[in-house]
Amino acid sequence: MPSDKAPPEIARYETAGGVKIYKLPVLAFPPRHFTNCYLVYAHELTLIDTGSGSAESNQSLKDCFEGLRTDHGEKVSLGDVKRVIVTHGHIDHFGGLNFIREQTKAKVGIHVLDQSTVTSFRERLVVSSKNLHHFLDRAGFEKERADEFTEMNKWSKNVFKSTPVDFTFDEGDRIGDVFEVFHTPGHCPGQVCLRLGDILFTADHVLSRITPNQSPESIVRYNGLGHYYESLRKIRRLEGIQLGLGGHEDEMRDVRGRIDDIIAFHDRRLDRALEICDAPKSIGQIATEMFPRAADYHVLLAMTEAGAHVEYLYERGSLRVANVEEIEHESNPTLLYVKT
Ligand SMILES: [Zn+2]
Ligand SMILES: [Zn+2]
Repeated sequence: MPSDKAPPEIARYETAGGVKIYKLPVLAFPPRHFTNCYLVYAHELTLIDTGSGSAESNQSLKDCFEGLRTDHGEKVSLGDVKRVIVTHGHIDHFGGLNFIREQTKAKVGIHVLDQSTVTSFRERLVVSSKNLHHFLDRAGFEKERADEFTEMNKWSKNVFKSTPVDFTFDEGDRIGDVFEVFHTPGHCPGQVCLRLGDILFTADHVLSRITPNQSPESIVRYNGLGHYYESLRKIRRLEGIQLGLGGHEDEMRDVRGRIDDIIAFHDRRLDRALEICDAPKSIGQIATEMFPRAADYHVLLAMTEAGAHVEYLYERGSLRVANVEEIEHESNPTLLYVKT
């Protein structure tokens, strides 16, 4: 039995229609952040996702192609790829685009809502960081800490060089008459799942073990738990999916069962947020009670995760703002939420 520490291996799949697929587990960030890229032997050889673009990630992608040649008998190299589809605008999925452009003439596509993440990377990060600061102010963070976390959020500002894309897609499109696009916003605005016969590439929308981090829509439009629930239900309705291939972790034989688990997980977290808001609380206080052990960067993730749940409940009338009188004339005050 491979131990938990053994690196994941290349895996081969085939659709009921006979299209061959390889999972390439690319070490996006050491020591153990693997992103699954997929090489699909469709009419045009297609690579789904790219890794992060770090030196280790690019080397790992090259090593995967070497593994295809030596262990799987495929006469293929990165230069043979004709099309790259990016499943969403997170750096561990698209960051390798510049490296791939150096090696191939492949056409690159991404969902229309995440297009600017690739074409205007720094701009989009700087602008969304303004919204993040605003969110942190309202969540009750002191200015210095909000500044610190906003800077932390921009760590990747200079690691990716913006590059043009060759095509974009949206809900209902068919890429190359092969991949059926399902727009599944929530985890990321331009998140998509791609259907190829009885196989669904679920990207980071549905993963086998972790529940993808949530962030409020007040920071980035088309994020947020409301969109995420809707997108989960959309994918749950699909008939005839035999296998789900995620952007990380393992393959899923029961995508619907996994979706039910994720929905139940967030339902419980919403209940927990309501319980915490028995008395008026800021998002900062709610996050601390929800995730008491969070430290460093995880404090920021705890804040956005709690913020997404509070936003969902507030928009649906289950929470109200308790300090309206007190804050009415302040420019960006801390809001306190209480159960209605
Ligand atoms: Zn992601
Ligand atoms: Zn990811």
